[in-house]
This record gives sequence, C-alpha cells and structure tokens, in this order.
Amino acid sequence: MPMKPKVQVVETLPPTFVGFVEEVDRMIERRVPETLLESDDLIQCDHTFGGLVDPTEGTFGFEFMDGENFDRDGYSITWHFLLTKIQIRAIARHELKTLTMWRCSSDCGRRATVPEWYCTECDFPP
Ligand SMILES: [Zn+2]
Repeated sequence: MPMKPKVQVVETLPPTFVGFVEEVDRMIERRVPETLLESDDLIQCDHTFGGLVDPTEGTFGFEFMDGENFDRDGYSITWHFLLTKIQIRAIARHELKTLTMWRCSSDCGRRATVPEWYCTECDFPP
C-alpha cells in the first residue's frame, strides 16, 4: 500500500502505557503462556492490546489508545508499538522513558515506532 512520508518525533511514553508494560514485563518473566504464543491480541488491558509478533527476535507489538483522542469516524487514535523484550524491561524499570517514533506529516495524533506503518486515515485514500 502506498504511504505518505512520516516525520520523526521523540515521545515521552504515556504513564498508562508504562503501567501496562510493567505488567507485560512481569508476565514475560513468569513465562505466562500469553507471552510465549505468537498473537496480536493475547495480551490486553482496557487501553492496550497486543502480543508476541516475532518469537525468534522476542518482539512484541502493541496498540495503545489514550481514550481521549478520536478520529473523524469516532475511532480511538492509536499508537503502534513494536518493542523488544529488552526495551520492555527497560521501560518497566523506568530506565527508558522516551522513544523515537513516527507521525504523519499532517499530525493526526497517531504514532508508530516504525516508519513503514500505514495510517488508515492519512494514507487512505492514496
Ligand atoms: Zn495519520
């Protein structure tokens, strides 16, 4: 799918997301099944869902909704995170407080940790 160029920004991690990551870190340490099985939604709370996307690299993907910002269709504005177990541990220990992320050139509010991410609002229609 064609995508418009994204702009790099440094974001402070939202406290509610950090709280979720603390829990995920504890689940990984306990080897809870939800953290060992490949999925995109086995790990959930009321503002974030996701799961293990790459078992070989130990990468997790999460969609975070702050619950305050909505798009023109009424859907929650989401932040898309791809994090390694090492990053999850560092965020949970409050050693990593900011992340380099990407936003759309017309700032729609969404963020992603990777530039090759398709924004359903700004990249559509192409
Ligand atoms: Zn966008």
